[in-house]
Amino acid sequence: MRTLTLRRGEERRLRAGHLWIFSNEIDVRKTPLKDFAPGEEATVKDSRGIALGSACVSPGSLICARLYARKPDVPLDAGLVRQRLAQALQLRDRLFDAPFYRLCYGEGDFLPGLVVDRFGSHLALQVTTAGMEARRDLVREALEELVHPSSLAWDNAVRARELEQLSLAPVQEGACPDELEVPEGGCSYLAPCLGGQKTGWYYDQRPNRAMAASLCRQIPDAEVLDAFSYVGGFGTACGRAGAKSCVFADASGQALGYCSRNLARNAPQTAGETLAGDAFETLGRLRGEGRGFDLVSIDPPAFIKRRKDMKEGLAAYARINQLAMGLVRDGGILVSSSCSQHLAMEELRAVIARAAARAGAHARLLFAGSQGPDHPVHCAMPETAYLKCLAVQISR
Ligand code: SAH
Repeated sequence: MRTLTLRRGEERRLRAGHLWIFSNEIDVRKTPLKDFAPGEEATVKDSRGIALGSACVSPGSLICARLYARKPDVPLDAGLVRQRLAQALQLRDRLFDAPFYRLCYGEGDFLPGLVVDRFGSHLALQVTTAGMEARRDLVREALEELVHPSSLAWDNAVRARELEQLSLAPVQEGACPDELEVPEGGCSYLAPCLGGQKTGWYYDQRPNRAMAASLCRQIPDAEVLDAFSYVGGFGTACGRAGAKSCVFADASGQALGYCSRNLARNAPQTAGETLAGDAFETLGRLRGEGRGFDLVSIDPPAFIKRRKDMKEGLAAYARINQLAMGLVRDGGILVSSSCSQHLAMEELRAVIARAAARAGAHARLLFAGSQGPDHPVHCAMPETAYLKCLAVQISR
């Protein structure tokens, strides 16, 4: 394996456990990045020649290499890919009693650039680095051996692939189901498998849906609003917990169709309503109509995708939290999620505090959740922690 040498002092983050190397940290006079093929393995050394580990190189990217081993000269070959995936599988087997989970979470499972969601015998995969792209066959072979999937869908339409100059065309192998059936929290959810918007299921919110449902269970005849509902994970869980009614709001008509079906099959006694359109407008309109709810969940897409979106993104979080809070009855619950990695949990709490102050209300934090354990956070990599979900009680 060839060597990738860092500039002086640039080894600090890696020594602290981080796995990423940025292109401006490379001593390109000694080891020019353009000499590496996309995805090639390299032993990473500091400026004194001390080895830090083995990494795959993405010569054209800002993150130009990602470590997958702490030892030098370790190839990312069939044996290592299989070993890492077997460890990932073993962890999930310990966490869950059914084969429905995120089976591999990139850096969190020491396989940078690979995400695998498992839906029984169907696998949805995302490969976002040149290193993993070059090892797709190894990944497929390891998964075939470990979990015997009947179908695989490689979802390639992601921005991260654009940055690595990888093809965006989706690839399907085997007979992919039209619909997924996902068991969670005593419910059985249907979700679209292929086509449409982001397909599949958001496993990351599993513990937070359970938390919302448990808060809802104690509210007699609860009226629930599930905004940014996708196929209705939060609202349906609340319905199952005994809510009297649930309003689902989402921009996607297809997702709302699934909300109705998911509510009907899991909580037939709960009255459902779907509101298509921009959730900012929908929530404003509900407010104008004088409606109120006992529990409101908001789970918007990431408003802060990059650090430079911070100001605008924060303003969007402020606005949607204000709108949502305005719909919570006295004593009711706001369940506010953010999947922006750049928004810290404390900042989301501050957003909620400001919204409450503006409304002349008090918000008390009951529960602070994060992504489920099938999305393990690498403790040295803040980039692997992105989801937060705060449940607050609103008192006026
Ligand atoms: N709460 C869901 C996941 C939500 S994903 C769950 O538990 O599974 C975010 C959702 O927001 C997507 O379904 C997307 O269609 C929707 N969305 C994105 N922008 C929106 C907007 N401006 N108004 C309404 N919905 C929007």
